[in-house]
Amino acid sequence: MSLSFGGAEGAPRRLSILGATGSIGCSTLDLVARDPEAYDVEVLTAFRSVDALAEQARNVEAKLAVVGDESLYKDLKDSLWGSGTEVAAGTSALVEAATRPSEWVMAGIVGAAGLAPTLAAVRRGAVVALANKECLVCAGELMLDEVRDSEATLLPVDSEHNAIFQVFDFERLERVERIVLTASGGPFLNTDVAELSQVTPEQAVAHPNWDMGAKISVDSATMMNKGLEMIEAHHLFPVAPHQIEVLMHPQSVIHSMVGYVDGSVLAQLGEPDMRTPIAYTLAWPDRIATPSARLDLARIGTLTFQSPDEVRFPALRLAREAMEAGGAAPIILNGANEVAVAAFLERRIGFTDIIATVEATLSAMPRIAINGLDDVLVVDRESRRIAGAMISPPSGRA
Ligand code: NDP
Ligand code: MG
Repeated sequence: MSLSFGGAEGAPRRLSILGATGSIGCSTLDLVARDPEAYDVEVLTAFRSVDALAEQARNVEAKLAVVGDESLYKDLKDSLWGSGTEVAAGTSALVEAATRPSEWVMAGIVGAAGLAPTLAAVRRGAVVALANKECLVCAGELMLDEVRDSEATLLPVDSEHNAIFQVFDFERLERVERIVLTASGGPFLNTDVAELSQVTPEQAVAHPNWDMGAKISVDSATMMNKGLEMIEAHHLFPVAPHQIEVLMHPQSVIHSMVGYVDGSVLAQLGEPDMRTPIAYTLAWPDRIATPSARLDLARIGTLTFQSPDEVRFPALRLAREAMEAGGAAPIILNGANEVAVAAFLERRIGFTDIIATVEATLSAMPRIAINGLDDVLVVDRESRRIAGAMISPPSGRA
């Protein structure tokens, strides 16, 4: 890993924020705004949120603003007229933006759409703060190979993986016994299982502890988020699938733990606020102050724990099977899940249909060997097509 924090000594650090208009992007910009002299913003990207992107770009005097939806080029251009910010649009412009010479890149796009831009940042050896877990789930081996080849630095943003990163002894791998991913259980931890088929998108996105984008909030409600995080952990940390455990912890105070051969368990704790793990990646290996609320355990009083329930949350079982199978399975799991979550948010399927669609897609798809990015993209596309057809079959039944 290289520690090129770039620029001349004392010069501002150049940043690019992919997915700037999202929950992770806004939290990153919140930290940047607290010390504007320390950073130069090279690139900000969004998919369709032109107004929000233009406002952000003006505020931080970004050099380039990119919108993924090509048809919105003129809107963005008009919004940034006279600002000095360069404008681009389209999926290849997103990838090009990631090649711009910033030292630090926030990979904060949601879904496999973030894969190509994130890979582009990795390939030029940047420090990549990785929030976009879907790209590791789909192409973890490939990404890690690219990280090694380019000597990029990959820093996990996901709160669990950031916690593990902070307490993982990379010097003594053989002394690590297990990692324990904590999971809040989302809004339906105690809902009657029989009622789950009737829950609405509004209920599903109302996470009890974290304020996040719609897709990850639904994933937290199905616990597919924890499933994706198991696969993410398997790629980020050199542990076997059987060494990755999930523990329900509804208060989201212990962000994850690492168990060692002597029986010690090390954890990172904090209030649930993504600005803490983002700040860790922004300052690493140093630390910077954040406005996150300070943990007051006496006020919280009680932390509780329970084993995960795979009947209530079948996504955990599917994700574990996909992690163990490797190859095409995690790509299918992720692609089908993205399609099903979008359909649920559009009220085209019910909540329990999400994981049923993922399971049916996993059963329907052949497991081709994955030998590179092209294979990843083929399987991703095909899993989306099959999941989409199950949701909206030719007969038109939803
Ligand atoms: P949001 O939905 O809030 O934001 C997603 C961002 O990606 C937006 O800027 C959005 O632009 C952009 N985007 C969406 N689709 C595309 C596309 N097809 N092409 C290019 N850009 C796109 O998501 P979050 O910030 O919640 O999550 C981002 C990632 O971080 C996810 O992978 C998530 O799993 C991960 N993560 C998030 C956490 C959180 O607390 N939010 C915690 C841990 C991980 P636009 O606004 O125009 O739609
Ligand atoms: Mg997480």
